[in-house]
Amino acid sequence: MTQASRILAAWWRTRTALRQSPERLAEGRLRAWTALQPALARTPALVAFAGQPLDNFPITDIADLRHDYGAWNSLGLSDRELRAMADAAEAGEQAAPGALSAGWSTGSGGTTRGLFVASPAERAEYIGQSLARLLPARALLRRQRIALHLRAGNVLYSDAGRGRIAFRHIPLASQLAETSAALEAFAPTILIAPPHRLLALAEAGVRLPALRHLFCGSEPISAAERSLVAARLGLGPRAIYQATEGFLGAECRAGRLHLNDHVLAIELEPVAGTPGFRPIITDLKRASQPVVRLRGDDYLELDPRPCPCGFAGRVIRPVEGRVADIWRGSAGCVTPPQIVAAVEGVLGAGHRWQAVGELARAVLRVAPDCPPAQAEAAAQALAAAAARPVELRRDLPEWSGSKRRKVVWADG
Ligand SMILES: [Zn+2]
Repeated sequence: MTQASRILAAWWRTRTALRQSPERLAEGRLRAWTALQPALARTPALVAFAGQPLDNFPITDIADLRHDYGAWNSLGLSDRELRAMADAAEAGEQAAPGALSAGWSTGSGGTTRGLFVASPAERAEYIGQSLARLLPARALLRRQRIALHLRAGNVLYSDAGRGRIAFRHIPLASQLAETSAALEAFAPTILIAPPHRLLALAEAGVRLPALRHLFCGSEPISAAERSLVAARLGLGPRAIYQATEGFLGAECRAGRLHLNDHVLAIELEPVAGTPGFRPIITDLKRASQPVVRLRGDDYLELDPRPCPCGFAGRVIRPVEGRVADIWRGSAGCVTPPQIVAAVEGVLGAGHRWQAVGELARAVLRVAPDCPPAQAEAAAQALAAAAARPVELRRDLPEWSGSKRRKVVWADG
């Protein structure tokens, strides 16, 4: 099977799944789970459970998986071999088309980065799913120029980008002016970038007249930031919920974030003291590097309102932070969405900020150019929402690294 026909097959399967009832989706998940068992039987960490129902498998924390990738692949590769492959890819060595590819993902603050392995069939599956989830069918009939403004050239796209679709990778490490010039020269029709860079590009006045579809990923984006990007670029960004553990969800055309319930079995583990959950992720399509009951760290809340788009995948509220960054205290838990709402209700999206919570106090850091009265008001709103005194500092530097963290819990 050629890569193009694999992509088309995955696209078609996904388009079909987007119209199925919750019951049909569940049947599809069960079939995919059965088909996955031979790969699990070749995976050292899971071989003892292969053939059993999902519930019987252990729940694994990501740190444990990252400790030994050799135990978590079905290809007989050792931890050392996989790390060497990913290092080579990061150093710019291209995996041959048709070969296994490996790479490193962005780690969020405080966590180590994750290693990702994908076979050609898995890369095709990912691209087919993404195209079906993110773009209307008619968009595939046009020539598209897709700009990926991400940390590393995503291994998943390494053999796409022929025919009608051109991919251009613009590294996140590039300076803003350089990025802006590269984007204007490429004139993408589709752009994928992290929110903090989209905001910076929008503020710098980047001109992208050919842009038809705008996506953001790899870190949370708030409601205020969305409005600001939409106002400046003339196009609202849609969120892609992607982690090293897989492609977990995406916003539909109605702007609602659906979990990828057609290819993932995501269990929701309640987070004590909050209305939210953390995801326990099983990717039913990944055989090279199985993801089975992996406990993620994002803080999720369900959105019970039905979605008019017709996809039965569960809808969650925008992801705004990690479970590890929930603030604890005598007055109970304060969640990342509550903290973002309190601060940005006053500051809006135009000013950089970071809130660091401790048991009995918190610090709100804002950019030096943030107007003092507004910063004071934001600190007061945060103090009220988080029920603790807030110290204000006007010394927050530019975001460095590839991930920003607006909400941080420092009392661990
Ligand atoms: Zn929808």
